[in-house]
Amino acid sequence: MIPYGRQDITEADIDAVIAVLRSDFLTQGPMVPHFERTIGDYCSSEYTIALNSATSALHLACLALDLGPGDWLWTSPISFVASANCGLYCGANVDFVDIDPHTYNLCPKSLKKKLIAAEQSGQLPKIVVPVHLCGQSCDMQAIHTLSQKYGFKIIEDASHAIGGKYQNESIGICRHSDITVFSFHPVKIITTAEGGAALTNDAKLARRIELLRSHGITRDAAQMTHEPDGPWYYQQVDLGYNYRMTDLQAALGVSQLKRLDQYVVRRHALAEQYNELLADLPLTTPHQHDDGYSAYHLYVVRLQQENTNVSQRQIFENLREQGIGVNIHYIPIHTQPYYKQFGFKQGDFPQAESYYNEAMSLPLYPTMTDEQLNKVVSALQKALQQ
Ligand SMILES: *Cc1c(COP(=O)(O)O)cnc(C)c1O
Repeated sequence: MIPYGRQDITEADIDAVIAVLRSDFLTQGPMVPHFERTIGDYCSSEYTIALNSATSALHLACLALDLGPGDWLWTSPISFVASANCGLYCGANVDFVDIDPHTYNLCPKSLKKKLIAAEQSGQLPKIVVPVHLCGQSCDMQAIHTLSQKYGFKIIEDASHAIGGKYQNESIGICRHSDITVFSFHPVKIITTAEGGAALTNDAKLARRIELLRSHGITRDAAQMTHEPDGPWYYQQVDLGYNYRMTDLQAALGVSQLKRLDQYVVRRHALAEQYNELLADLPLTTPHQHDDGYSAYHLYVVRLQQENTNVSQRQIFENLREQGIGVNIHYIPIHTQPYYKQFGFKQGDFPQAESYYNEAMSLPLYPTMTDEQLNKVVSALQKALQQ
């Protein structure tokens, strides 16, 4: 099976992890701060906090921005469920903004319309979570302008997007947001097995995320309610979690980061080959906005249903039978059974729903060979001729 995505682990990565295993610290040692500095330097963000997943990063980002009961968090229905669940963890309400039919990212026009209506009903969102789907940045300038007018905070879910750029700056710089979140799950751009990070330029937000990452416990006298009882002393000043990344994971991350740019270049080269080879098929290849440089986590084609009699389901099953590990990213979150209780129904977000009926992620990962890509294309041609 040619998978839709897979990690690349080199001997250098393995050596980096082994070196930590032989060292004094498996966790809470020097590798996590080293990883954080390396990401911060790469993205030009002031503060980077490594965490055990992007899901944890989204949760703590929401808490740091004081999301709670009675508040609203809005995100895109075309994302992994974690982009929305973080709002529910905080006891807040979650709603969605329909996608742009070309980029498949949260649509600023739909956002504006929804904000105007929400202002009238007194239910403006506290946080909006734009998701950089497939690694391509959302229209952050437009979303940021709306945030100034309507007073919401922005968390960029950049789980797909480390290594990508927006307006010639690295995604993660937080130019148009309060916090940016990355994922280092093995299918993503670089991996730490499980892992994530939150980036911000706001010292207060960074301190809060750092505190909540480890039980709400501080060893910093400046954050305590009174003078330390002695050198052993720590205080729990908030209710936090154990969302820490280990040094083993951080060492793997540092080693992987060295190949980040090379990975994204290869992803682009493969995407360009797909674009050329698929041009004559009844498929819409990924639209790329001039403003950005995608990290190309995913290569999603959309079936032009008016130009073929073969269904998405038939193509999917046929490709799987031919050993091509296609996938669908994503099932619209508002249609998930768990989200029914909040009153969402089919038809609420028509662009997202029609995307879901036509989209398919083709295999794309940095170690994919040209030969494998040609195999995917031939299999796809065959699947479309059923
Ligand atoms: C993978 C992913 C997440 C969750 O990442 P984890 O590190 O697995 O918690 C969140 N949002 C999006 C868009 C993702 O693709």
